[in-house]
Amino acid sequence: MTAFNAEKKGSESGKGALNCKISTQLFNLLEKNGIKTHLIKTLNDTEQLIKKVQIIPIEVVVRNTATGSLTKRLGIKDGTILPFTLVEFYYKDDALGDPLINDEHALMMNIAKEDQLEQLRKLGRQINSILKPFFEKAGLNLIDFKLEFGLDKDGTVLLADEISPDSCRFWDIATGDKMDKDRFRQNLGNVKVAYEEVLKRILGGMN
Ligand code: UDP
Repeated sequence: MTAFNAEKKGSESGKGALNCKISTQLFNLLEKNGIKTHLIKTLNDTEQLIKKVQIIPIEVVVRNTATGSLTKRLGIKDGTILPFTLVEFYYKDDALGDPLINDEHALMMNIAKEDQLEQLRKLGRQINSILKPFFEKAGLNLIDFKLEFGLDKDGTVLLADEISPDSCRFWDIATGDKMDKDRFRQNLGNVKVAYEEVLKRILGGMN
């Protein structure tokens, strides 16, 4: 496990397998709802067969509730429900610490075309509109999450990477408990227990 641009490191045995299961379920749910993804099939506990894509070097962050870097950057109170779904772009570059960018930065650096940026924003909102109610039924408040996209050989934009408690924030609706990587970032303990609970609730929601 890494956080804060790999400054904080740790390990949690079995977390990879949990993330693989969670991500598989969520990608299948999204595919069923018309989102094109790189996933072909899951091979075993920790491996997926995926379509080869060229990753667009933009982290698409979708936010429903203010927390994390948004509260720090803009002084918004932690936990504030946003008046609309906020989509942000971050430039995927570890050496630069993945800085926040706007559309013009992306165009200027030629990392995506204007229509692709529009598509990323639209897909971010669409994915949120599928995931948010799904998690709500599972008793989890989807606070924010990060997506990555890639282009296949025909130039089609596919959802890539993973969607897991490493890349999302979930707060338990009943208790307010954090059920994601913030448990590691903030030394809250019980990281794996939380990931296991997220998987259990997702599997419950699929039935
Ligand atoms: N996120 C991620 N990878 C990153 C940065 C952020 O998966 O390199 C996710 C993070 O888990 C959260 C959302 O994106 O669900 C927004 O993160 P934020 O910008 O608040 O960053 P942080 O506070 O983690 O630095």
